[in-house]
Amino acid sequence: MATDRTFYLETFGCQMNAHDSEKVIGTLEQQGYRRVESEEEADLILYNTCSIRDKAEQKVFHRLQDYKTLYKAGKRFGVLGCVAQQEGEKIFARAPHVSLVSGSASYRRLPEMLSRLEAGEKRITGLDDRQTEETFETEFTARQNPYRGYITIIEGCDKFCAYCVVPYTRGKERSRRSSSVLDEARRIADQGYTEIQLLGQNVNSYRDPEGKRSFAELLAAVGETVGIRRVRFTTSHPRDFTRDIVEAIDAVPALCDHVHLPVQSGSSRILNAMRRDYTAEEYLEKIAWLKAARRPISLSTDIIVGFPGERPDDFIETMDLLAKVEYDCVFGFKYSARPNTPALTMIDSIPDEEKARRLQVLLERQREIQRVNYAKHLGQTVEVMVEGFNPAREQVVGRSSQNKPVNFSCAQAIAPAPGTYLNVRITTTHPNSLVGQAV
Ligand code: SF4
Repeated sequence: MATDRTFYLETFGCQMNAHDSEKVIGTLEQQGYRRVESEEEADLILYNTCSIRDKAEQKVFHRLQDYKTLYKAGKRFGVLGCVAQQEGEKIFARAPHVSLVSGSASYRRLPEMLSRLEAGEKRITGLDDRQTEETFETEFTARQNPYRGYITIIEGCDKFCAYCVVPYTRGKERSRRSSSVLDEARRIADQGYTEIQLLGQNVNSYRDPEGKRSFAELLAAVGETVGIRRVRFTTSHPRDFTRDIVEAIDAVPALCDHVHLPVQSGSSRILNAMRRDYTAEEYLEKIAWLKAARRPISLSTDIIVGFPGERPDDFIETMDLLAKVEYDCVFGFKYSARPNTPALTMIDSIPDEEKARRLQVLLERQREIQRVNYAKHLGQTVEVMVEGFNPAREQVVGRSSQNKPVNFSCAQAIAPAPGTYLNVRITTTHPNSLVGQAV
């Protein structure tokens, strides 16, 4: 056990990484480490990295360069997460002051790796070979979000979409026992949280190792946890998205009125090239289930433009799909090749300016759709959970069940605490947010 050893941890990337960091922090604290706020104060400096885009990856290497002089002062460096898994031992060559390289599928071995680090080992790796069936579970999660408790229900991915690094960086798909997920939901509720977000690269392919619950049944059971008022889940894969999920949302009030269903393209030809395993028509059928729900379910998606081989007519099909679905939020990206992925071997002949143009066209159209969608809330009263305060605008910042940002004016001294629920009457609408008055 370490005595008064300190660590600094910085997280890059997605919610999965943010939650992994909560578990890593809890594990380190359990091992006797104390968390500090800067690299300079820390004995051990950890970066939990993201490799989904090149920029995120470069940022980590810049950070390692910026702080490498601290190595001389006896500090240790560790690279965790997706870049660690992707680059493996090559990191030691690129940044020789790094002593620990571990992908997320090896975090359960962290205590052992830390002991070896303390014993003076200089090159410690925890790299996944897509063999492990184990998940990283710890009761020592150090939750950093004041209003939302995250629970991982499934790790890894077996889909191998042509553009995606995740199957190579997060290992094979492995689900947690539903009883363990429900125990964690109860613990979170006991800690005072009222909102839970279930996490996984593809939550819809959840398979309960105990054989007790489907994903929809698990979702419903989490929503029925005493004290829990809101449950969200991310991310869904359209191929595995089943109708019973919509039925669960209709039946259980705590399940939020929002589904994020990444489509990636509106062209079945491109979806096939992306290895997404569904057509645009099949996707729209699932959207039709969601639109037929008794509750008004808000929809959001991810779209990649300029995938290798995307012709102007394919892009028009994406634009048509956008108009049909009328999403409340779209995360749009220009395609960029990532290491190890099948798309790397495809000819990426679309110039960057053309990709940028398509992205701009897409986002401008989406902004118009959102302007209309958000305007429908004018005069309505919506329930908001407070997430924070924006001092520059003197506004409380919150979110509706539909995941729409809702803000209202309030003096900071009397602003409600994060996690408070209240009703807000909407007086102004924008394409990305609603503004109103607390009632
Ligand atoms: S489903 Fe596809 S896009 Fe999503 S994590 Fe798996 S491989 Fe990546």
